[in-house]
Amino acid sequence: MSLTKKIIIALILGVGVGLAFNAWAPEAFVTVDAYFLTPLGQLFLKLITMLVVPLVFFSIVLGTAGMGDPKKLGRIGGKTVGYYLLTTTIALVIGLSVAFIIQPGDPGLMGEAGEEFSAEEPPPVMDTLLNIIPSNPIEALASGEMLQIIAFALLVGIAMASLGDKTRGVMKLMEQGNEIMMYLVTLAMKLAPYGAFALIASALGKQGFDVLASMVMYMLAVILGLVIHSIITYGGFVALLGKQSPIQFFKNFFPAMTVAFSTSSSSATLPISMKTAQEKLGVSKPVSSFVQPLGATINMDGTAIMQAVATVFIAQVYAVQLSMGDLLTVVLTATLASIGTAGVPGVGMIMLAMVLTSVGLPVEGIALVLAVDRILDMLRTAVNITGDASCAVVVDRTEQKHQTVQKESSVEA
Ligand code: ASP
Repeated sequence: MSLTKKIIIALILGVGVGLAFNAWAPEAFVTVDAYFLTPLGQLFLKLITMLVVPLVFFSIVLGTAGMGDPKKLGRIGGKTVGYYLLTTTIALVIGLSVAFIIQPGDPGLMGEAGEEFSAEEPPPVMDTLLNIIPSNPIEALASGEMLQIIAFALLVGIAMASLGDKTRGVMKLMEQGNEIMMYLVTLAMKLAPYGAFALIASALGKQGFDVLASMVMYMLAVILGLVIHSIITYGGFVALLGKQSPIQFFKNFFPAMTVAFSTSSSSATLPISMKTAQEKLGVSKPVSSFVQPLGATINMDGTAIMQAVATVFIAQVYAVQLSMGDLLTVVLTATLASIGTAGVPGVGMIMLAMVLTSVGLPVEGIALVLAVDRILDMLRTAVNITGDASCAVVVDRTEQKHQTVQKESSVEA
């Protein structure tokens, strides 16, 4: 049986088991979760998280050293960041539009917030930008600071490209290191169906379903935004610029999406999404190694959609009118917020606090959406990594075209 089929079965079983425990055996669930579901889920999650830092480091160094030409690197970097900013802006516009059409908020909901939310301090954007250069690369690697690791790996790769043959030994080391990590990803993927099953059953078993009823319109608006953005924006770019059938794209990338869905973490899913993009979507290794780790950190379109809908929802509940200027502020703040925060579970809520503050809405409003956030986090993380993969497909394709044009013009000359 193919991995995709196994994962689909695991998803269905996970949802079924989680819901069944939730409805009929909540007491037994506590024990089953503590001794079986959570350990099994964590085992898988830790196995793939373990591979993120070495894989990102080796593959970016290799990719950059292999490109050889800083101009090409600049071009790929420009396209990638441009694509991410553009798709995040589109995501926010879709989120805001859907929320304005559906009008999910109801001023009567204010009393329903069952949970407390205290806002964590979001990282200031300028600090994040300055912090991209690590003061100690070993510390950056040890603490998994993704943007710093990317910056350091890029510089090492550029140096190796300029030094050429002198660094042949290190090059071999990086190549072999990368091989080893990829081999381990293959092994970890064999566990994906079991991990996905356990993580989903555990999440749904814990979910309080009674709050869902009052939040149906909010959830619907977020899900609709996610679906529209995936099909139209990603499907459109993949077809027009990436020259791939969108149906094939989603089908081939599906295993990675399900892992993102069950782990709720773009960063943890990175090894699997890179491998899937390289092997199933035909993205070249240098492009995938650069575009996807960067995306897992700075590009979160699914999260952006949730923030847009949540902002409109909270404004409605508190009966606050958002002006056109407010909406622009939401777009700007949410885009900047996604650059500064890495893709790990629940980080979207910290970003939402930033967005709400920027338009003067009470941060306590987050308490309203918190109860259903676990489920939406799963869905939007799957969208987040799909956005990164669509960018990899588009950048890779346009790079191939660029090379063909260059070759043709040099033949003519
Ligand atoms: N869990 C999301 C991710 O890792 C971030 C978020 O929306 O909370 O991409």
